[in-house]
Amino acid sequence: MDIDLARAWVKAIAVAVDQHKDHLTQLDSAIGDADHGVNMHRGFSAVTTALEGVEPDTVGAVFIKTGTTLISTIGGASGPLYGGAFRALGKALDTPAAEPLAFAGALAAGLESIQKLGTAVPGDKTMIDAYAPAVAAFEEQIRQGAGFAAAAAAAADAAEEGMRATTPLQARKGRASYLGARSVGHQDPGATSTALIFRALADTAAH
Ligand code: ADP
Ligand code: MG
Ligand code: MG
Repeated sequence: MDIDLARAWVKAIAVAVDQHKDHLTQLDSAIGDADHGVNMHRGFSAVTTALEGVEPDTVGAVFIKTGTTLISTIGGASGPLYGGAFRALGKALDTPAAEPLAFAGALAAGLESIQKLGTAVPGDKTMIDAYAPAVAAFEEQIRQGAGFAAAAAAAADAAEEGMRATTPLQARKGRASYLGARSVGHQDPGATSTALIFRALADTAAH
């Protein structure tokens, strides 16, 4: 993971969020307040603009800028959660180029940040249900000798599987939890945007 890949990844997330904005909002209209697509779009559009004007000299600086911008532009729960995760990722990568295992550790720091702030655990029907398996898959692939791109592809697959697995769950965190049993049968919006984030990483790393 180097500065160019970091920038390209964040840009690819912005493109994916733009393409899937309506879908994310639709999912949030079923079990939330119908703004997840709007929130993510506002945040990553601002990130794209914020990164245009800077020449970061570390991978971490790209992610810290991303996180800070998300926190200051997204009103919903996803702002501080994703923003904090990107800041944690950035703090762990104070280097112009990171080895895959160091990146795996940074992803884990991002997960820790989300869990510390939101106190969700796997199975609560949140972004954690996509993020946690993605981090585990990435690290496992690297430890088994896979390259960055293959590990990122495995992470994206795991995130999508985790995303789909949120459908039968009852939400225990966030707005969807207010619905109780009525949250069952709907895919979680945040798990869906997390899957987009990891698919964007896989696509970026493959090129
Ligand atoms: P809001 O719910 O404030 O409108 P968003 O709609 O942007 O914010 O984001 C909703 C998503 O945030 C949910 O689908 C869920 O994945 C995630 N989320 C909400 N609360 C938590 C939490 N405590 N921990 C982890 N993720 C959470
Ligand atoms: Mg919402
Ligand atoms: Mg909201």
